[in-house]
Amino acid sequence: MISGAGVAGLALAYWLDRHGFQPTVIERARQVRHGGYAVDFRGEALDVLDRMELLEPVRALDTQMGDAAMVDAEGRQYVTLPAAVFAGDLEVPKGQLTRLLHAAAQDRAEYLFSDSISAVEQDGDSVHVTFGNGPPRRFDLLVGADGLHSRTRALVFGPEERFVHPLGIHTAIFSLPNYLGLRRTGQLYVSPGKAANVFAGDLDGRARAALHFTAEELEYDRHDTGEQQRIVAERFAGEGWEIPRLLTEMRTAEDFWFDANAQVMMDTWASGRVVLLGDAGYCAAPTSGRGTSQALIGAYVLAGELAQAGGDHTAAFRAYESAMRPFVTEHQAVGREGAERFFMPAPTQEVLDMLAADAPEKTRTRAVRLPDYAAR
Ligand SMILES: Cc1cc2nc3c(=O)[nH]c(=O)nc-3n(C[C@H](O)[C@H](O)[C@H](O)COP(=O)(O)OP(=O)(O)OC[C@H]3O[C@@H](n4cnc5c(N)ncnc54)[C@H](O)[C@@H]3O)c2cc1C
Repeated sequence: MISGAGVAGLALAYWLDRHGFQPTVIERARQVRHGGYAVDFRGEALDVLDRMELLEPVRALDTQMGDAAMVDAEGRQYVTLPAAVFAGDLEVPKGQLTRLLHAAAQDRAEYLFSDSISAVEQDGDSVHVTFGNGPPRRFDLLVGADGLHSRTRALVFGPEERFVHPLGIHTAIFSLPNYLGLRRTGQLYVSPGKAANVFAGDLDGRARAALHFTAEELEYDRHDTGEQQRIVAERFAGEGWEIPRLLTEMRTAEDFWFDANAQVMMDTWASGRVVLLGDAGYCAAPTSGRGTSQALIGAYVLAGELAQAGGDHTAAFRAYESAMRPFVTEHQAVGREGAERFFMPAPTQEVLDMLAADAPEKTRTRAVRLPDYAAR
């Protein structure tokens, strides 16, 4: 059983099926969630996509984002932000990526939408799972791929506060009409403790906006979009540039997403027959630009190790963890550094050009070993 049909859960369903397992995926939302901004792929994640025969379709979605403009409150450009500073090896719109993954994985698993696990009990040879709606069932293994606020983690490992470390930044993301006429470029606006950007590739005629602000702890209902939008609107009230229009567009966006930038730190990702995957176990925060790559690689390694261990899930979980741990540790360091720099006053053009020249070196992290697990 896989809890969560995000990047991690869908990729795992795909690979488990290819190794001859029979996954069931449970997703709280009514369907796979297609919201989001853009996600970056780096390094070995591209190899995983290739082994899924998805590299070409994903490449076709490349936003090929060019340099962006940093603008002041009147919309005047004062520096150019080189693409090398913010884009990965390949950048694609998050929603279109999940659509592709879903298409690749939809016939490879049983899907239960609009439901969630509510209790988990383990005995020697199975996991007994109780659901919010459907009848209880037994599974061999349970994988928590249910994101930063993982229910699986809370039920099996302990309360969220023990593992989730906020980085002091909140982010709202939504799509909107491309009324600024952007084409493979973006505009960024920074004021003390706040940053906003609008980017558009020219793939779907839409633009995507992100509004970020500093806040340590925020009390709000994670399922109440209206409340979250009010918080964002209050924070950005009185700001210049396109902010008033963006706040208006935000209120009617169908794919509004809001969350804290946070990291998940755990000593182990497995407990008996339950294991965590992706953000649920080791979120590196959006400021790392690595979350999607980690989820994809983690799914590949976890499924491969389960197949290789021939039924010994303890050995498989151990091998998965030792392959992923050093990689995740470095990504999390990148995420923390990114958060520290996030609201710094806009650098001069000279500094930005230097950062661009250094970017490939600065952002390269340790490689993860990707064995060629023989899949069908
Ligand atoms: C709508 C959305 C938009 C995003 N946009 C961006 C972005 O623009 N840029 C970026 O860097 N990162 C974004 N992220 C985060 C990014 O997707 C992850 O960091 C990364 O891809 C790892 O994915 P994941 O599958 O581990 O977690 P997630 O992508 O968070 O997926 C978790 C899935 O589990 C589901 N779920 C949660 N709780 C339960 C439950 N109790 N029961 C069943 N299912 C549950 C969620 O609905 C979701 O589908 C977004 C995530 C979401 C959900």
